[in-house]
Amino acid sequence: MKVLVCDSISPLAIERMRKACLEVDVNDKVTADELLQIIGGYDAMVVRSRTKVRKPVIDAATNLKVVVRGGVGVDNIDVDYAQARGIKILNTPGASTHSVAELTIGYLFALARPIVQSTASMREGLWEKSRFEGIEIQGKVLGIIGMGRIGTAVATRAAALGMIVLGYDSRTIGPAPFLQMVSLDELFARSDFITLHIPLTEDSRHLINADAVARMKTGVRIVDCARGGVIDEDALYDAIRAGKVAGAALDVFETEPLTDRRLFELPQVIGSPHIGASTHEATARIGDEVAELLISLAKDSC
Ligand code: NAD
Repeated sequence: MKVLVCDSISPLAIERMRKACLEVDVNDKVTADELLQIIGGYDAMVVRSRTKVRKPVIDAATNLKVVVRGGVGVDNIDVDYAQARGIKILNTPGASTHSVAELTIGYLFALARPIVQSTASMREGLWEKSRFEGIEIQGKVLGIIGMGRIGTAVATRAAALGMIVLGYDSRTIGPAPFLQMVSLDELFARSDFITLHIPLTEDSRHLINADAVARMKTGVRIVDCARGGVIDEDALYDAIRAGKVAGAALDVFETEPLTDRRLFELPQVIGSPHIGASTHEATARIGDEVAELLISLAKDSC
């Protein structure tokens, strides 16, 4: 099996696949144009979030049998179009759960206490002690939208920190001692912090818009480590300017890499360039799972 690794995965995983007789080419800086030229020669593709597998790539991929996405969301792949051409789409859904949950918890603290803003102030040589009063998260209400793998991992951690945890999901979630499942309206009305852990779909696009923000508590703080586009960034900008939303922590954006820097002109906004799964441990787990999937698919041809 000839595999093209288009985005960076762990070198150990590459070594493991090569030892198992897979022919692996690593080209983790391949451009969209180059990909169209070379993809016809491969049976399998490994991508993370950088490489887009849209119709032109699928049309050019005349030998492709499988695309493995190292990570959870497959929104960088035209799944239906690929599957209609007999191409399997696989992912590594659980590998980054702890990493994203921990980044989310980090952001809850960083929204409660202005760690990021005070560091920037210290770098300028200032000592603005009275500017940086925060709040405690213990006893505050955390609303989690999307109670899947990551939402549940955030819920258990937040409950252990003394937060009152509300959950909302479009599917029925069983009762849990650390969590109260509520309607979206109740979650908006009661939460001091809201964190998003849902995929970007037609239903979830701009779920957090001006109307939703109007139904939230004044002073709410919002975290998005899920997908850009779930939040209407213009509405968030207006709500922060109006003092309705006290802070936002964003790891994901409507356009990535970020082009519109307006949100980051607001001191209440902190963020990161889509690094939710970027830990040593998640990278190793993703690599292991990608290698296992491809080795098991190739076992008959080795
Ligand atoms: P999951 O599939 O386990 O959970 C998603 C949950 O969202 C499910 O319970 C589903 O029923 C629910 N849901 C879907 N649409 C909904 C809607 N419109 N309203 C309410 N609930 C809805 O997924 P997960 O592994 O927990 O991942 C959650 C999100 O985190 C995904 O979007 C994924 O792409 C994202 N993610 C981001 C990073 C990052 O680097 N920031 C890394 C990994 C995953």
